Amino acid sequence: MLIVPEREIADLMTRGAAFDAVEGVFAAMASQDAYNFPVIREAIGHEDALYGFKGGFDKAGMALGLKAGGYWPNNLEKHGIINHQSTVFLFDPDTGRVRAMVGGNLLTALRTAAASSVSIKHLAREDARVIGMIGAGHQATFQLRAALEQRTFDKVIGWNFHPEMLPNLQKVADEAGLPFEAVELDGLRAADVLISITSSFDAILKADQVSPGTHIACMGTDTKGKQEVDPALLARATVFTDEVAQSVSIGEAQHAIAAGLITEADVHQLGAVINGTHTGRGSEDEITLFDGTGVGLQDLAVAASVVELAVQKGITIEVDF
Ligand code: NAD
Repeated sequence: MLIVPEREIADLMTRGAAFDAVEGVFAAMASQDAYNFPVIREAIGHEDALYGFKGGFDKAGMALGLKAGGYWPNNLEKHGIINHQSTVFLFDPDTGRVRAMVGGNLLTALRTAAASSVSIKHLAREDARVIGMIGAGHQATFQLRAALEQRTFDKVIGWNFHPEMLPNLQKVADEAGLPFEAVELDGLRAADVLISITSSFDAILKADQVSPGTHIACMGTDTKGKQEVDPALLARATVFTDEVAQSVSIGEAQHAIAAGLITEADVHQLGAVINGTHTGRGSEDEITLFDGTGVGLQDLAVAASVVELAVQKGITIEVDF
C-alpha cells in the first residue's frame, strides 16, 4: 500500500491537475462510466463530531474507493489542528486490495474549487471580466484562485456576511494583480461570474441581484436545509449540477424543487456539457447556475492523480500490507 501524507499534498498537487481530474470524472459520471455510492453521514455522539463516507467507482479512470472523515468542531481549540479532517482510501478495482491512503484535507479544497472552475470553463461567457464572490472563508480563497484562471478577469468584487473576513479575498486579488472592491448585495449585479461559498442556511442573493448573462456557481449548499440563493433564481436560470440526485436533495435545488418552481428534469449534469450531449449556455443573456454539491468521485479523482504524481517523484511511503 502506498501512503501520501497530508504534508506532501501542497507540493505535489496543482490546480491544473485537480481541474483535469474533476473535469474527467464529471464527464465519466454523465456517460455513466462512474457512479457515486450513497453517502453516509453520522453524528457520532462524541466531541460533537460529524463523520461519514463518500465513495464511488469510476470505470473510465479505474478509481475505486472512499473518502472518510468529517467535522470535529473542537479540534482547533483543543488540538491546534483544523476542524475538517478527511482521508481518501483507493482500492485496486481488479482485486479489491487497498492501493493507497491519501491525506484528504487540502485535496477537498482543491477538488471543490476545481468543480466551480470546470463550470466556469464550460458555462460562463467568454467575455466575462468581473468576478463576484459571496463568502470569504477558507474555501472562498481556493475558489477565487482557481476561477481567475478560467477567464481574463479584470476585477474582483465581493460580499460577506462577516465583512471582517473580506481581506481574505483582497489578498487573492492582490496576488493576481487585480483590483478588489467590497460591495453590497445589489452591487453584485456588476459580476459576469459569481461564486457563493458560505455556510448559510438562508437565501442571501435575490433573483433580481443577478444580471442577465451571468454564470453563478453555488458551492456552499451541501446539506439539507442549507441555502445561499433565492429559489426564484433557479427558476430564472438554466441549472446544472455535478449530481442530480444530490442537487435536488441536499444542494441548492432542494428549495426550488420544494417550492414547486422547478422539477428534477430542469437540473442538468455539467458532465453532459463536457461530453457535448448538452449544449450548455444557449445565449449571451442566459443565466447559468451550477449547483456544486460535492461528490465522492471528485475526491477519488484528485487522490488518484496525486498518487500518480507522488509515484513519479518517488515520495510515496510504501507499506507491506
Ligand atoms: P468557513 O467557516 O471558512 O467560512 C464560512 C463562510 O460562510 C464565511 O464566508 C462566513 O462569513 C459565511 N457565513 C457564516 N455564517 C453565515 C450566515 N449565517 N449567512 C451568510 N454567510 C455566512 O467555511 P469554508 O470551509 O469556507 O466552507 C464554506 C461552505 O462550503 C461550508 O458550508 C461547507 O460545508 C461548504 N463546502 C462545500 C463543498 C462542496 O463540494 N460543495 C466542499 C467543501 C465545503
